[in-house]
Amino acid sequence: MKENVWKNYSKEDMNRLNDICDDYRKFLSVSKIEREAVRNSIELAKEFGFRDLEDFILSGRELHKGDKVYVNNRGKALALFVIGEEDITNGMNILGAHIDSPRLDLKANPLYEDKEFAYFDTHYYGGIKKYQWVTIPLALHGVVALKNGEVITVCIGEDESDPVVGITDLLPHLGQEQMKKEASKVIEGEKLDVLIGSMPMKDEEEDAVKKNVLEILKNRYNIEEEDFLSAEIEVVPAGKARDFGLDRSMIMGYGQDDKVCAYTSLRAFLETKPCKRTISCILVDKEEIGSVGSTGMESNFFENAITEMCQLLGHKEVTATSRCLSHSHMLSSDVNAAYDPLYSDVMDDRNASFFNYGVVFCKYTGSRGKSGSNDASAEFIAKIRNIMDTHSVRFQISELGKVDAGGGGTIAYILANRNVNVIDCGVGVLSMHAPWEVTSKSDIYEAYKCYVAFLENA
Ligand code: MN
Ligand code: MN
Repeated sequence: MKENVWKNYSKEDMNRLNDICDDYRKFLSVSKIEREAVRNSIELAKEFGFRDLEDFILSGRELHKGDKVYVNNRGKALALFVIGEEDITNGMNILGAHIDSPRLDLKANPLYEDKEFAYFDTHYYGGIKKYQWVTIPLALHGVVALKNGEVITVCIGEDESDPVVGITDLLPHLGQEQMKKEASKVIEGEKLDVLIGSMPMKDEEEDAVKKNVLEILKNRYNIEEEDFLSAEIEVVPAGKARDFGLDRSMIMGYGQDDKVCAYTSLRAFLETKPCKRTISCILVDKEEIGSVGSTGMESNFFENAITEMCQLLGHKEVTATSRCLSHSHMLSSDVNAAYDPLYSDVMDDRNASFFNYGVVFCKYTGSRGKSGSNDASAEFIAKIRNIMDTHSVRFQISELGKVDAGGGGTIAYILANRNVNVIDCGVGVLSMHAPWEVTSKSDIYEAYKCYVAFLENA
């Protein structure tokens, strides 16, 4: 029978666990959006000696075993590789996770004034319970791209000296009708407008509050109202990730779906010495809205990178990329719905994932009869079980909730479509997709161990 993993940790385990979780918490706090996650990941990778694959391509320099390269896809997705001893067409061991998270995006024409309040109009991104996003401190992260090609990075609400913004809710005293609505209608999408100011500009008649806010933005970022047309500003919960629980056994933070898998994958990948097989770590955007677009997993960017590498490794044949993919193994790492005793009715006890029982593997995800899932093969799961047991990684195999309770998808099926052997894998989360999600430190540690064991042995 499996046991709560905390019971078996040595002092060394505890030190290593705390190191990893402290670093993760810091990374999470400064990597709330995909662009920040890519920037911080590249910075880390450079410390480990990684170089832009583009430098090799442009200079025509060949790749050799042990070379460490990365591909930055438009600042929103990243693929990293360490060339192994074996030929690349023998396949790679791949870790994949996503770095976008549910949030509110500013609309293209976001700014308006109503009754001398200035607001940003938003369009939510990903699956959220809208009522969770009101009355909490929010921050603005992203970029404003100017016509002259300059891209201005925006971050307001994270520094202690910064103001925060937020969305108001109706007081209970006047909420009688509101409280009769079903939860999906209590706060409607068009009501998710962010209050950003109330002070009018002096000597201005019309839209004086809005003009005042624009003046502030002009002073801080040198942008005009029109520049929002070419901006990507994401509204996210303001503040840092924290230790959670009186025993500090957990972490509460925004965007743990899926930065908890992204960070542990990246760290395991960077810390692994060059292996027999080529290893890779992919951090992608847009998973929360269907892996679409040029920076989502459906994009060809990963395959294109492999093709470029094959060329630089001396493979001129057109079949090199497909042979590499067909022989590759992958952990598609995404969070799982951890068992919550308060909501046990949507869980099947025997097939749920539990906090502190290790990294979670999912043979299939999907909904309505596994629809949309990657159904990992029994043979591949047996191989994974063997690797985990041999390397003392604590794991559990589970489903995402009861049959017909709902469901979800990941990037697994996309790589599987490219004929990669893939299984879903990740860390259990409580309050998934809420502004503040909760994970267990022991599961984070086991995920890290799992990724190392997989890269070295799959
Ligand atoms: Mn996810
Ligand atoms: Mn998600």
